[in-house]
Amino acid sequence: PKGICGADADTIVARNLLRAVAAGSGCYIHVIENTARNLKAMGEAKAPVKGERALERVAKLFGVDGVDNHEKAVNIAKAVLADLYLPRDETMKLTAKLAYAPRYALWEKLGLLPGGAKSEVFDGVVKSSTNLNSDPVNMLFHCLTLGISTGLYGLTMVNLLNDIMLGEPVIRAAAVGFKTIDPKYINIMITGHQHSSFTDLQERLVRPDVRARAREAGAEGFRFVGCTCVGQDLQLRGEHYQEVFTGHAGNNFTSEAVLATGAIDLVVSEFNCTLPGLEPIADRLGVKMICIDDVAKKANAEYAPYSFVNGGEVSEKVIASALDAYRSRRGSVSINVPADHGNDDTITGVSEVSLKEFLGGSWKPLVDLIAAGDVRGVVGVVGCSSMVSGGHDVLTVELVRELIKRDIIVLSAGCSSGGIENVGLMRPSAAQFAGPRLRAVCEKL
Ligand code: SF4
Repeated sequence: PKGICGADADTIVARNLLRAVAAGSGCYIHVIENTARNLKAMGEAKAPVKGERALERVAKLFGVDGVDNHEKAVNIAKAVLADLYLPRDETMKLTAKLAYAPRYALWEKLGLLPGGAKSEVFDGVVKSSTNLNSDPVNMLFHCLTLGISTGLYGLTMVNLLNDIMLGEPVIRAAAVGFKTIDPKYINIMITGHQHSSFTDLQERLVRPDVRARAREAGAEGFRFVGCTCVGQDLQLRGEHYQEVFTGHAGNNFTSEAVLATGAIDLVVSEFNCTLPGLEPIADRLGVKMICIDDVAKKANAEYAPYSFVNGGEVSEKVIASALDAYRSRRGSVSINVPADHGNDDTITGVSEVSLKEFLGGSWKPLVDLIAAGDVRGVVGVVGCSSMVSGGHDVLTVELVRELIKRDIIVLSAGCSSGGIENVGLMRPSAAQFAGPRLRAVCEKL
């Protein structure tokens, strides 16, 4: 069977897939573009660089120099932005620096190397429009190219740049779940994916003069309640923000329940997943909503566009609005925080660098365990949680239980890990659920 225009099933499916992949790629290329712009502005403003070691590593990796750390940061950001804005027929230069060399050679041989990341998204949208491309193989190859630019730039690179601006991850035990919400504070729930948009706010909220304003209003101070991926970003680098950030409360769908506790006074959102389902709960409970990037503008949110340069102004608006919301809603809204939800010893702060350091500076101990069969492999359970396959987080939690039972280590990120951590599978005591060989390894650590 064919469509009325003559397109066959392969063309229709490939076209829809490319459309979806281009949209997804656009989202994460938006994140790296903003992150690089923030890094550039930070360097130009000569603001403090929290991750100096990360800066050195990335500068070396990219072959970038500068007279001081600020100039190096600017030059790193310029190199990233230059790649993103290339036309589609010019290969991005940093792909080769980030990719595993044999894989890069294969991509090159297959003609999969991405041109400018924004152009790749643009042409993906064009190709998948009505009666343009009808070659499924060509469209599927385009999906693979978008996968490369999205993975290396939209994900890996974002983390590298955030580590420079916000400090590097440190492996540590952290609190998770609803128990991280303390009603005695003015609580600001953050949702999104762009940690660098909170650079100013997270510092400002713990300044003595700002804390004094919270105390005048009757609270003990301000706190971030982290939800979704940006909550995980703060969890990952939480070693550096222990005062303002007390832990990751939950993932995308959990954020509705977090709001329903009544203990949140304001929501700051900048990307997905800021669920539209938050809106009626916020309206009902007098929670103010502010959106700092209009790609994720909620219908009931005030829009306060963030850039590194006007970060202080946006932070002031957030602080003033949070104080107003706290004063007007506390006392008239009932608060119910399940204080025993979550735990205090979820292991977090795992990055390529922190993990290698933990292993003594080499991957060999892990490779040896795999070679000996004590660890049968490492599996990533990453990405969004969903309501299908049994309900919220059911599939991912059950999958992880089955994997560790078979002596397989699970590496998790994204909203899946929100559920996995809240049920206790990222605590040291989860070793009891692992197969005998993996359990023995965990219990030796
Ligand atoms: S992991 Fe998925 S569901 Fe969670 S915030 Fe990111 S995009 Fe949204």
